[in-house]
Amino acid sequence: MRNLILVISFLLSSVIIADDNYRYYINLTKVVNDKVSVTLTPPTIAQNEIEFSFAAMVPGTYEVYNFGRFISNFKVTGINGAAIKVTKVDVNTYKISPAASIEKITYDVDDTWDKTDLPDTKDKVVFEPGGTNFEDGKNFAINTHSMFGFIKGMLNKNFILEFEKPKGFYPATGLSDIKLGDTKDVISVFDYHDLVDSPIMYSLPDTATIMVANTKVLVANYSPNKKINSRFIASTLKELLNAQKDYLFGELPVSKYAFLFYFIDRATQSGSNGALEHSYSSFYVLQEFDSLSLQQEIRDVAAHEFFHIVTPLNIHSKEIGDFDFSKPQMSEHLWLYEGMTEYAAHHAQTKGGITDIDKLIGTMMQKYETSITAFNDTMSFTYMSKHVLEEKIHTQYSNVYEKGAVIGMCLDILLRHYSDGKYGTQNLMKDLATKYGKNKSFNDEDLFNDIEKFTYPQIGDFLRKHVSGKIPLPMQEVLDKIGIDFSKELVTYEFSLGSTDLNFNEKTNRLYVAGIAEMDEFGKEMGFKMNDELSKLNGIELKMDNIKETITNYYETVKEGDKVTIEIYRPKGKGDKYKIKTLNAVAKKIKIVRKNQIGLKQELSEKQKQTLRAWVGL
Ligand SMILES: [Zn+2]
Repeated sequence: MRNLILVISFLLSSVIIADDNYRYYINLTKVVNDKVSVTLTPPTIAQNEIEFSFAAMVPGTYEVYNFGRFISNFKVTGINGAAIKVTKVDVNTYKISPAASIEKITYDVDDTWDKTDLPDTKDKVVFEPGGTNFEDGKNFAINTHSMFGFIKGMLNKNFILEFEKPKGFYPATGLSDIKLGDTKDVISVFDYHDLVDSPIMYSLPDTATIMVANTKVLVANYSPNKKINSRFIASTLKELLNAQKDYLFGELPVSKYAFLFYFIDRATQSGSNGALEHSYSSFYVLQEFDSLSLQQEIRDVAAHEFFHIVTPLNIHSKEIGDFDFSKPQMSEHLWLYEGMTEYAAHHAQTKGGITDIDKLIGTMMQKYETSITAFNDTMSFTYMSKHVLEEKIHTQYSNVYEKGAVIGMCLDILLRHYSDGKYGTQNLMKDLATKYGKNKSFNDEDLFNDIEKFTYPQIGDFLRKHVSGKIPLPMQEVLDKIGIDFSKELVTYEFSLGSTDLNFNEKTNRLYVAGIAEMDEFGKEMGFKMNDELSKLNGIELKMDNIKETITNYYETVKEGDKVTIEIYRPKGKGDKYKIKTLNAVAKKIKIVRKNQIGLKQELSEKQKQTLRAWVGL
């Protein structure tokens, strides 16, 4: 009798029944010390000893995070009290035997967003969109790889997640197999790869659904101070996704997609904001501002993440297709996965009429400028990609969003040039996705040959010289194809007012000299000193409401040899005392060197016009 009662109460108190699935039970109503407890009933295990592991890294991030760091109180219970031996092998892995006697595995999970006291955590902060956040009773932003482990060699089993949740909470996710309850949800996932591919955000719902072609798009929002809502995001995304759909020739390759937005009202631990892409969703952590000031950022980030459905999700190498969660290997082609995606995100907005051509070229030139000033411009991009996990190479990683995108633009313009406007990177990506696709990986070393086969020998040359090779991008040659002049250094002679840094003194309502490091010859002749306050230019008082007009007028009328006077207030020691002085100098043109300048040619050839039109879709 006693046993029977125990058996009955066991069955009633838990739906966790041993079968051939991973059955996880997570209680979100009980957060203790910012930790959530997790219970696993494992699938049927045949071998005597298993390695139970948490991911070292997941696809889409390019840094080893060791999610095992966030696990504590790891315990294994044997069936009928059987003794089980557990040995921690490394930060992510536990050796367990005899494995067939395991009844359940329990542990506590810490979230990653506000964790600073773990060993090695300071320099290994998890990028928030790839991490997890528990806010008791408010929001649970769950990246499944930071909460759920796997048995090595047994990734291809179903995962059944049973969440005990605060009343009214809704699990926003790109997953489809969900049984919603009042206080309990059951979410079923095909295997570990799909599990890792599916973040889940639990909170009181602020959701909107839109249809784009045949794709049902869920927008879920968490804005703690209610500065932004899901309806606003949905209307912004609808316009964007329609442009992206057109860019992909009228079809989106998924039938369901979820955008999960968490707007954070404090600085992130990693110091960055952004998002992480998945096959059927993307998860965003952005600063919480009012809707309108966030709109273009939402477009730019969402366009990027959504375009990842093209690559790497549908075009990828073996390193990604057979991702090793414990000892990740890197592919050579980050220029493709991140660079082409970033380029397409901006290019599609211009082609779809959301932004204009000036914005596109401006963005790309800004990226080019950053790539040559902040990164090593003669490092092979494929080498960097392959070795990006190594500490000394990792500093080059974010160049994939700068130079990577510029590589995309160059490739697109060259393709449109050689094809008389008929073929661009949009077509190339489609051809590659058709040849490969979600379940077929390419070999890193074959990719350039494949691209050359679809296109032209000159494109193969370009990739070998400027992407795997160390030769900087041929900007002048590429931009010339669309009738744009590019100068590495443009020297001009122009009038100046001294080229000092100016700031505004609110007390006196005057501009003052705040820096003289860049002061030019004219400024030196004038004799500006730090903290001089500008009062009159050629006798005209410089007030805030007329200053722009006065200065514009000066530049329009000044001639070589004119005497220029500037009245200044020069501080006398400490306090509010000033000496009024009139400085003067003779107007003359100063040599000004501007780097990486572009300008449209006066006259474009028919060929240039054709390439330009094809490129921006006019
Ligand atoms: Zn990306």
